[in-house]
Amino acid sequence: MTRENIFKRYQVSFDSKTLQHIFTDTLIIGSGVAGLSSAIHASKGGSVLVVTKTEINENCTEHAQGGIAAKLNLGDSYKSHIDDTLSTGQGICNDAVVSSVIREGPKRVKELISWGAKFDKENGKLAFTKEGGHSRPRILRARGDSTGKEIEETLINMVRKNPQIRVFEHTFALDLLVSKNSCDGIIAWRSQEGKILIWAKQTILASGGCGQVYRETTNPEIATGDGIAMAYRAGVRLQDLEFVQFHPTTLYVAGTERVLISETVRGEGGVLRNKDGELFMSKYHPSAELAPRDIVSRSIVQEIRRTDHTHVYLDVRHISKEKLSNRFPKIKKLCASFGIDITRQLIPVHPSAHYMIGGVKVDQNGKTSMKNLYACGEVSCTGLHGANRLGSNSLLEGLVFGYRTGNMVGKKLEEKKEGLSPRSFKEPSKSHLYSELDLEDLKNSLKSLMWRSVGIERDGKYLKEAIKNIEHWSKYIISNEFSSPLGWEVQNMLTVSILISSSASKRCESRGVHYRLDHPDTDDKHWKKHIIVYNGKYDFVQ
Ligand SMILES: Cc1cc2nc3c(=O)[nH]c(=O)nc-3n(C[C@H](O)[C@H](O)[C@H](O)COP(=O)(O)OP(=O)(O)OC[C@H]3O[C@@H](n4cnc5c(N)ncnc54)[C@H](O)[C@@H]3O)c2cc1C
Repeated sequence: MTRENIFKRYQVSFDSKTLQHIFTDTLIIGSGVAGLSSAIHASKGGSVLVVTKTEINENCTEHAQGGIAAKLNLGDSYKSHIDDTLSTGQGICNDAVVSSVIREGPKRVKELISWGAKFDKENGKLAFTKEGGHSRPRILRARGDSTGKEIEETLINMVRKNPQIRVFEHTFALDLLVSKNSCDGIIAWRSQEGKILIWAKQTILASGGCGQVYRETTNPEIATGDGIAMAYRAGVRLQDLEFVQFHPTTLYVAGTERVLISETVRGEGGVLRNKDGELFMSKYHPSAELAPRDIVSRSIVQEIRRTDHTHVYLDVRHISKEKLSNRFPKIKKLCASFGIDITRQLIPVHPSAHYMIGGVKVDQNGKTSMKNLYACGEVSCTGLHGANRLGSNSLLEGLVFGYRTGNMVGKKLEEKKEGLSPRSFKEPSKSHLYSELDLEDLKNSLKSLMWRSVGIERDGKYLKEAIKNIEHWSKYIISNEFSSPLGWEVQNMLTVSILISSSASKRCESRGVHYRLDHPDTDDKHWKKHIIVYNGKYDFVQ
């Protein structure tokens, strides 16, 4: 079996003649910041249907703590935000995208405020904080450390009020329906109705990232990379999948989920200590705790190894009790639930997978390589982040590209009043071999393998071994047919894991978040370029 044979075109069998058909002008897959903002703007041109796997607010956006970066502070400048983004991105950002997103950012944030979003203020004026890699305070926050929740609730409120927008919760998007490289909608599954076909003039993928492919992750359970996998099965071009960002500080309490401790805690003065209570970050980088995330994550891994301990500690005991309560109410409460009083005790922390930088390759308007298919938010790769994401730039990207894709699609619909053309589709059934119990086992093995071999520090030999293992599992799992989200998610996770590890194995250098022990230097001569993958082919482009 060749590697390409592993990936079949559709996850499930179906016959369009026997299924329920649903029609909409614009279909949006995902209800995070990107999906909902694109829905609001696309609705100006016609009907919009948003489908989302679980509840409307079950996504990464809802969990975002730290904030959103935008030049709204008087002492800030576009140039400074652009320079910080470019320097963090390590030579492979798309300069035009960086400049345009950062210049458009304040407008989109003001729009969000006009829709009711309440960002924190000090003395009646918007309050700004700093994060690693930002040379000036420019991060807006809400309710201390619940920025994503405030943004999500504002967008949900706007969507609920809009008669043009329908939302289907508990609707799992399985595959894109494609003819002649043009997207006509999706096949989906609803817990009540089963499989359905949704026909759309324009489809926007806003299905978020894939942090769940790693054992240690800050991402909620929905982040299984479904959008990336379904785009790949349909032959859409993907870019830079080797670049996965690891967050330096997640709460490390054995046996529980990893929960993020926002970077703004270090921005407000929190420091890192090893098991002997020593400060160590200045040994690794002149900016110490405020060095870029990849450097802080790797420094923690090295310190953990050096001290032969499972984690390090975040120390905020020197910050006033009042400030801790006002700025980090959620984190304080979370730690207290594990018996940690952050005003008196150290917080055990460890790095975790956090953000997918690569994804579906798009242009400045979110257009993919397939006709009538757009992508925005974490599922996409716009070129804003290059090889490393500057903290708080992703909510900004979701907002800006949500606007751009929605606006573009809305305008196209206004200009061209063409009808929908549903066609007959038939996909034969496949064998059913695995039980859900086996799947849970396999999922855990995959997540551990990805963490060990395709994580913060990578090595060619272990990457190749990981690819071999994942391909072996994929042969059996991907060729099977499952009838519930767990099976489809594991298939998608396997697909995304092969793509991440293969791209990581091909990039024989270290750049940004991609660190190779066997190629520790950045190699601009050979690798100042992007890795594009589609239909089993890899292209290397400047
Ligand atoms: C803990 C945490 C903290 C963060 N803090 C910050 C921060 O402070 N600042 C910042 O800028 N960024 C932060 N990020 C990153 C940021 O939150 C995300 O990049 C951003 O919210 C992604 O938005 P999105 O709309 O692309 O995806 P999400 O918000 O993840 O939404 C994806 C949606 O797609 C749906 N979906 C997925 N697959 C399917 C399917 N098969 N069928 C149907 N629906 C599907 C999901 O149900 C979900 O509704 C944080 C991330 C995490 C996890």
